[in-house]
Amino acid sequence: MSQEHNPHGVDESRRTFMKATGAATAAAGLGATGAAAGDEKRAKRIEALIDELTLEQKVGQMTQVAIDDLGEGFDPDTAFNDHDDADTLGELFSELHVGSILNGGATGPTFDGEEFVEGLNGLQEYNLEVNEPAIPFVWGCDALHGNCLLDGCTSFPQRLNMGATRDIDLVEAAATHTGDSVAAIGGHWNFGPTLDVLRDMRWGRYFEGHSEDAMLLGEMGKARARGFQRSGRVAATVKHFAGYGTPNTGSDRTHARTSMRDLRTRQFEPYRRGLEEAKTVMVNSGAVNGKPAHASSWLLTTVLRDRFGFDGVVLTDWDDFDRMISNHEYLPETDAGWREAVRQGIEAGVDMHMCGGATAPTDFIDTVIDLVESGELSERRIDESVRRILELKAELGLFEDPLAPEDEIGDIVGGAADVSERLAKESLVLLRNEGDALPLEGSEDLLLTGPGVHEGTPNRFLMQHGGWTLGWQGIEDGNLTEDGPRPRQSTIEGELADRLGDGLTHVPTEYEPAVYESLYENFDNGFFDVTDEQEAAIREAAPDADAVVVVLGEGTHNEGFGDRDKMRFLEAQRELVELVDAETDDDTALVGVILAGAPRGTEETFRHLDAVLFAGQPGSDAGVAVVDTLFGDYNPSGKLPFTWESHVGHVPQIYDEYPPRHPDGAGDQMVQFEFGHGLSYTDWAYADLSLSTDAVKNPASSPTVTAHVTVENAGETAGEHIVEVYNTESYGSVLQPHRRLMGFERVHLEPGERETVAVELDLSTLEVVPGDVPGWGPRVVEAGEYELAVGSDWGVNASDDAAEGATATLTVGKTASITDPEPTPGRYDIDGDGDEDFEDVMALHRRLKERKRRDRQRGCGRDRGNGR
Ligand code: BGC
Repeated sequence: MSQEHNPHGVDESRRTFMKATGAATAAAGLGATGAAAGDEKRAKRIEALIDELTLEQKVGQMTQVAIDDLGEGFDPDTAFNDHDDADTLGELFSELHVGSILNGGATGPTFDGEEFVEGLNGLQEYNLEVNEPAIPFVWGCDALHGNCLLDGCTSFPQRLNMGATRDIDLVEAAATHTGDSVAAIGGHWNFGPTLDVLRDMRWGRYFEGHSEDAMLLGEMGKARARGFQRSGRVAATVKHFAGYGTPNTGSDRTHARTSMRDLRTRQFEPYRRGLEEAKTVMVNSGAVNGKPAHASSWLLTTVLRDRFGFDGVVLTDWDDFDRMISNHEYLPETDAGWREAVRQGIEAGVDMHMCGGATAPTDFIDTVIDLVESGELSERRIDESVRRILELKAELGLFEDPLAPEDEIGDIVGGAADVSERLAKESLVLLRNEGDALPLEGSEDLLLTGPGVHEGTPNRFLMQHGGWTLGWQGIEDGNLTEDGPRPRQSTIEGELADRLGDGLTHVPTEYEPAVYESLYENFDNGFFDVTDEQEAAIREAAPDADAVVVVLGEGTHNEGFGDRDKMRFLEAQRELVELVDAETDDDTALVGVILAGAPRGTEETFRHLDAVLFAGQPGSDAGVAVVDTLFGDYNPSGKLPFTWESHVGHVPQIYDEYPPRHPDGAGDQMVQFEFGHGLSYTDWAYADLSLSTDAVKNPASSPTVTAHVTVENAGETAGEHIVEVYNTESYGSVLQPHRRLMGFERVHLEPGERETVAVELDLSTLEVVPGDVPGWGPRVVEAGEYELAVGSDWGVNASDDAAEGATATLTVGKTASITDPEPTPGRYDIDGDGDEDFEDVMALHRRLKERKRRDRQRGCGRDRGNGR
């Protein structure tokens, strides 16, 4: 068949193969059609397929196996050394009938896209051949800021950078490219977006969280899930449900810092929004209110399914049934403990278990089979999960087209450069700019220094990408090889050299990645040093420089290995800045550029610098973005998506905390830069904030209001600006957060230009849970007056560029719910059997009768007061 007639580019031999095998049987009628009749037909076919499966095959479908350590491609004959229960990769399918495999850590057996798709297709063919009935597997990965499993990939800015852009459309465009790329290597499942609310910079996954604001995070997540899934061939994952982002101790996978009211108003909110798009959910490895999330039927069934109506696949995180034992000490480390972990997890609502390094697939499979055979788990419950898994496979079109086209990936790798560059630029946050030190002139003699070399090997690019980039902990997990894979990338040094030629002196200082070590040996995310030679070179170059750019920050990291105990820069970096300050005079512009996955840096260092640019981890286009910004070709527009405390000891000072956030008058010392802070090279002014309506009778029927505000570029440089509208004052039956973001909009204005910008305000951001401490009531917007503001009215360390504020008042007439009119899920499950039905009414009745009887016995109750 010629390529024109075979648009998917799949070998004809493979198509013939598909017909000859059971794949064709399973395929019939299980297409990705959405029409009601088609859905019904599909449901019937799935039931028929379930009937055909043995218990072993069903449990196999519920099993996902990590195949990370394979060095030999996807050949089914490859030795499979991860576990002792399958000798070859192929046996996972021929013997264990597993329904899914994954490559975690943003690496696969190859960094080449074409080899990837050929390999996965070959393995799929094998799977379909050896299984009867033939059911395609789904392959999952973590393509979290681009498909960063491939050499030459576009590494989009990390999630924290995305949050700073407030640019939902651009973030969605990046996700669409990522999803298309995953589909084009033959993948089906992308384990993102990460929708865990951020509150603690000590957490090693802070870079993954987009924001501390639930609405901003949720909207980003929804858009990203939509983008990942746009091709129809890839499923997105809302993770990690729920409460993973607020570990009590600041350390990964520890217990969540939350309350029922906080869970319901802010922690659930981003997931709830993401669930509007994503087909799958991954569970929080941590625990919530004393219960491991994986064993919580309240979280995984009552809230997720009954309340949020989610009917897709729920996946554990890595080895997380075992973690109930090893991490949470919730169950004993015995066979009985493991058995109970599996039972509780499945009863709670898990559909598929991710077998990582610690769980041999047969440990899971044999245990489930045994639990069913002994009657401790019903086969009905197993069928429920298998049904969801098969539905997912059908929705992804796998029964009809189990193999991916092999001619797409070549054009995709390294693409969407325009989206990536723009996103990187928009994500940079100018924190400080004393005396308009920036932008630089462009003709300077410039000294560039800061961490970026180890044993002679340039390695600063590790810092610009961060984790989940061609390695779990960053490119090649920080152990760089000469010909190793790299993302498509521009570097700060490369761009400065292009621009300045001989005008650039570069003195990189020591940076040794500390991946995998920090958890046990230190919490520093990198070993930094300045050698005597480096110091001498700096002393020589600095006095002659017109400007010095010092790159600061932290090394690449991920998960618990990235947990940190410092906000200040490490000693070598602090001393480096002091050295440069000492060696230059007041006319030399000293600029700090921070590459980090969390707020790193304190006033102790900032006071030596004229300008500070927080670049986060901007990915592939870091060099162009940073250098264009330093020289004023791009006017910075990013806004912090988190609160930057002054010292680690003040963590957490989240912007939407209940008042008081801090003792009266202490704010200046506790908060360095507010949520929403971000300077520009021009001045912005606001006037005339008005609302499409000043009074909303019922927020349930009118959940949005449009704010109009006149924005003026009052300076002399064209630029972009994010207009944010906050609720800054309101009173109700419970505490109202200090400040709440209700809507935002980007605008581009020439100098002197004014525009009236429309910002849609989401009134559900005003919802609270009324009632006393337990927080059981429905989520509602309470009737009352709400002060809304743009600009600087919100106080402590506000942006200078927001000096001109404007306010308006919104009156809400009726207390009503927009998102969740019901009380705490499960509140009326009186008998605790997982549903709320007539039995519960009877149980309540019996309880009230019993209470009355006891009251009478004690001589209290209704008569008590009369005896006085
Ligand atoms: C992480 C998940 C990730 C999974 C698979 C786990 O360690 O917590 O976010 O999706 O690994 O790589």
